[in-house]
Amino acid sequence: MENSSNTDDFILRVNNLKKYFPVRRGILQRVINHVRAVDGVSFDIKRRETLSLVGESGSGKSTVGRLLARLDDSTEGSIVFNPGVNDVPGYSVGGSDITHSDPSTTKALRRKIQLIFQDPYSSLNPRMKTAEIIGEPLFVNGIARGRVLYDKVREYMSSVGLREDQMFNYPHEFSGGQRQRIGIARALIIEPELIVADEPVSALDSSVQAQVLNLLQDLQKQYGLSFLFISHDLSVVKHISDRIAVMYLGRIVEIAETDELFTNPKHPYTEALISVAPVPNPNIRGKPVILQGDVPSPIDPPGGCAFHPRCRYAAEKCKTETPELQGENGHQVACHFSEELHLQALEGFHT
Ligand code: SF4
Repeated sequence: MENSSNTDDFILRVNNLKKYFPVRRGILQRVINHVRAVDGVSFDIKRRETLSLVGESGSGKSTVGRLLARLDDSTEGSIVFNPGVNDVPGYSVGGSDITHSDPSTTKALRRKIQLIFQDPYSSLNPRMKTAEIIGEPLFVNGIARGRVLYDKVREYMSSVGLREDQMFNYPHEFSGGQRQRIGIARALIIEPELIVADEPVSALDSSVQAQVLNLLQDLQKQYGLSFLFISHDLSVVKHISDRIAVMYLGRIVEIAETDELFTNPKHPYTEALISVAPVPNPNIRGKPVILQGDVPSPIDPPGGCAFHPRCRYAAEKCKTETPELQGENGHQVACHFSEELHLQALEGFHT
């Protein structure tokens, strides 16, 4: 593992990450094309920061999460992980390239980068009791047994708001929100530094969503965690994100600090997502921008700016020239006309 940086202000650095899935056909299963699920994505996550990836279904955001957690191999690009505590063999503080880590390092990395899944119903083994589900990562990694394991499980159940007397209940005895709390306790008990949370509240009722989001924020402070939060819904990530990256067809089209993104959006796709995000007072909301059609196929994405078939500001240039992600002061956008367009912000964002 090669030392890639001397700075320690980031926990994860992704550079030009790509994931192409082959499309096969015929009896010989010949590769006839590729699905460009992720097509050149670059970003950093700072220590103790929450970065959210937002976009419609098919934007590639969940694939990015799987690549970071090393559940899939990337086609191109690099992932540099920079842990605060150097207790995993095979990588170093200061940043190590984990893009193609060997199986033993990948296994060790899973302790440091944990996933929280969307569906609290299917992600828990229905035949295991709560204590076994939460304590399993410590048990299988040989980190704790017996009384030590019991105490750890009890501590993390308490951290996520579950009671000790619920230790021996099965998943079906809990509500959706409680099941997600079990999943969160299981992810945290192994003391990760980075959490990849893929739509962690989208299967929950809105009142329960708020509770789980508040819990994640509290746990982030308590354990000094960094988060990559993946969601299709800007309103969900609005209050928990330090920065937001908007993805469209495998690429980041805009990235900025949360306040800046909502009050000064510069990409027409961001404008459309913001315009339909729920606000506390519907009387002060702006005019919704309804996008025409669906996200085009990532097998054969449109040339030029991939958003041009759905963009109400598209010009001739947009059909042939691909805009690069660029900008200043941490606000970057991939649009030829970002400085000329005065897009609609989220009215009443701070109310
Ligand atoms: Fe719309 Fe053109 Fe900007 Fe793409 S480059 S977002 S098509 S105005």
